[in-house]
Amino acid sequence: MTSHACDVLVVGGGIIGLTAAWRALAAGATVTVLDPAPGDGATRAAAGMLAPVMEAGFGQSGLTRLGTESLALWPRFARSLEQAAGLPPGAIGLDRTGTLALAYDGDDLAELRRMLALHREWGLGSVEISPDDARLREPAVGPRVAGAAWVPGDHQADPRAVHAALSAVVDAAPAARLVRRAATALTWVDGAVVGVSDDAGERHAAGTVVLAAGFSSGELFPGAPTRAVPGTTLRLDVGPELTSGLVVRGTVQGRPVYVVPRRQRADGRREVVVGATSDERDDDRLTRYADVFTLLRDARALLPALDDAVFVEATTRSRPGTPDNAPLLGWAADGLLLATGHHRNGVLLAPLTAAVVDHLLGGAPGAAVPGAALEAAVLLADPHRFARTTQGVAR
Ligand SMILES: Cc1cc2nc3c(=O)[nH]c(=O)nc-3n(C[C@H](O)[C@H](O)[C@H](O)COP(=O)(O)OP(=O)(O)OC[C@H]3O[C@@H](n4cnc5c(N)ncnc54)[C@H](O)[C@@H]3O)c2cc1C
Repeated sequence: MTSHACDVLVVGGGIIGLTAAWRALAAGATVTVLDPAPGDGATRAAAGMLAPVMEAGFGQSGLTRLGTESLALWPRFARSLEQAAGLPPGAIGLDRTGTLALAYDGDDLAELRRMLALHREWGLGSVEISPDDARLREPAVGPRVAGAAWVPGDHQADPRAVHAALSAVVDAAPAARLVRRAATALTWVDGAVVGVSDDAGERHAAGTVVLAAGFSSGELFPGAPTRAVPGTTLRLDVGPELTSGLVVRGTVQGRPVYVVPRRQRADGRREVVVGATSDERDDDRLTRYADVFTLLRDARALLPALDDAVFVEATTRSRPGTPDNAPLLGWAADGLLLATGHHRNGVLLAPLTAAVVDHLLGGAPGAAVPGAALEAAVLLADPHRFARTTQGVAR
């Protein structure tokens, strides 16, 4: 069947694939995006926390650094995306309001203090505050909360609005084409990727293929060891019960839960995202009854005022996990650029991904990225770091 040629073909139209497409367009490339359901992967479930601090894990200082570097790029990324999409400032919901961390009982507080010690060691700026001080910041904090912390380093943006803005940029670009089909195989010639076949049997020739198919990336290229990590988020419609607009995260008897309020609408109500579960199982998009129950019970333990919310949606999608939880960003072979494996932090890491794509495709930088940050990203996210375990199966 007819073969269409373009400079850059992006497999996957989630937040990462469209970010890569936008940056390739900015570099002057002709771009094809292949995706049967753009935006309906992990991007659809994401809460949009930009949370390098609360996501910081013992032994994962490199990942935390990637997160903080990317967070620093977010204001400029948001501004240039809003401009490119013809949207007013603020349209993609970047809110730098900080985050309130809550502990429900004594054991949760002990765990929070362990996290705060790590934050102190890494200079992340979080401080313990009393539950009463927490209520000064968000009056809806419940009476049974045992402890709290103020986390000034974590913020939020609206992933669905970001994706809509990226889609608008791609839709409006004469040099871009969105094809609503799935890629079935990469085309290899002499060890280089030169295109992709789709599920309608069409072949697409491309100078560069960007693989950004979320957790499915590994099915197309086994050298990208991605796996599905399903998670559920709930969307509520909330009235004036939540006043602050702050992201609230906590643990309730050891179970993590978060409440992410979007901006208030003109009618005084707002969308609130409650999340999230995280499972090691195959992707089936089915929402478990117990997951919905547990998330709602734990969220109302921290913020009892949520009882008056209207239930809108439960969404279960899979994060693109990797063996070490870090993304796969960079050249995997001649003609094959990986932009996948962003696991729990694809929204947070979108600006750094844009910067790496700018760097690798030789495009106009959309964000002024310090060389050291870029170097750290390229090193930590190097797709060849798993080469020993994948050798021999890549082609
Ligand atoms: C419950 C939940 C909550 C989350 N919360 C946050 C958060 O608060 N903050 C944060 O930073 N991150 C969060 N994340 C993570 C974030 O959503 C992901 O890291 C991010 O969406 C990854 O983007 P992506 O474009 O790589 O993948 P996806 O959004 O999954 O997109 C992949 C795309 O590839 C397409 N595709 C798949 N196979 C093919 C194929 N063969 N051919 C063509 N196209 C294909 C799919 O249709 C899909 O559109 C959350 C994720 C989940 C599940």
